[in-house]
Amino acid sequence: MIPYGKHHIDDDDVNAVVDVLKNQFLTQGVKVPEFEQALCDFTQAQYSLVVNSATSALHLACLSLGVTAGDIVWTTPITFVASANSARLAGAQIDFVDINPITHNICADKLATKLALAKQENSLPKAIIVVHFAGLSCDMLTIAKLTKKYNVKIIEDACHALGGQYLGSMIGSCQYSDISVFSFHPVKSITTAEGGAVLTNSRVIIDKARLLAKHGVSRDIPATDPELNQAWCYQQTELGLNYRLSDLNAALGISQLKKLPDFVKRRRLQAQRYFEGLQSLPLQLPEFETLHQSAWHLYTIELLEHDRGEVYQQLIEAGIGVNVHYIPVHWQPYYQALGFQKGDFENAETYYRRTLSLPIFPTMTAKEQNKVIETLTRILS
Ligand SMILES: *Cc1c(COP(=O)(O)O)cnc(C)c1O
Repeated sequence: MIPYGKHHIDDDDVNAVVDVLKNQFLTQGVKVPEFEQALCDFTQAQYSLVVNSATSALHLACLSLGVTAGDIVWTTPITFVASANSARLAGAQIDFVDINPITHNICADKLATKLALAKQENSLPKAIIVVHFAGLSCDMLTIAKLTKKYNVKIIEDACHALGGQYLGSMIGSCQYSDISVFSFHPVKSITTAEGGAVLTNSRVIIDKARLLAKHGVSRDIPATDPELNQAWCYQQTELGLNYRLSDLNAALGISQLKKLPDFVKRRRLQAQRYFEGLQSLPLQLPEFETLHQSAWHLYTIELLEHDRGEVYQQLIEAGIGVNVHYIPVHWQPYYQALGFQKGDFENAETYYRRTLSLPIFPTMTAKEQNKVIETLTRILS
């Protein structure tokens, strides 16, 4: 079976992890700050915090923007459930903004309309979580202008997009947002097995996120009580969590990040081959113009004439591990129980009904990719 996504680990990665295993610190050593610095160097964001998953990072992003009970957060229905869950975990209400049918990212026009209405109804969100779907950046310039007008914070769920670019900057630079979040799950651009990161250009946000990721406990805040203000002093000032990444994972991340430019180059080459190989089939492909901007976490197609379920089944039977990204979040039982209904976000639902994600990962061979293209051509002809 050719999987839809797969990590690539080489001897350098293995040695990096083994080195840490032989060292004194398995966690809270030097590898974590080194990985954080490498992420800042790569994205040009000023500050970063690495944590044990992107889900944790999204939760921290919400908490460090002060999202709490009584607040509203908006996101897109075409994402992994964690984007929406993070706001729920922080106590907020969630709502969705439909997608643009071409980019599959949050629709800036619909966002503008919804913001204007929310302003009238006094129900503006505290933050929006935008998702760079498949690795392609949202229209951040427009979104940043819009949200600024209403004082709405922006979190970029950039889990698909490490290595992608937007208007000449690396995604994650936070040039048009308050916070960006990455995932290092094995199917993403690079892996730490499990892991994630919070990036920001705000000192206040990173300090808050760092504190909350470590139990809300700090050794840096001087105690006023002289009995506490001792050499061993540590103080809990907030209700925090343990979201730390270990040095084993961080060492793997440092090693993987060095290969990221090569991984992205390979993904772009594969995307180009799909564009060339699939262009005459009755499919809606991604926009070719995005070839050198997207990080190509996914290569998604939309079936214009064929039944998606049948094509899915035939591809699986032929040994091609296609997948569907995503079931609209508001269709999930948990969100239906909150009152969302089928039909609420039409573009997302139309897209969901037609889409398949084809295999794309750095080590996929030309032979494997040709098999995908040939099989799909046979099924659709
Ligand atoms: C993978 C992913 C997440 C969650 O990442 P984890 O590191 O597995 O917690 C969140 N949002 C999106 C868009 C993702 O693709």
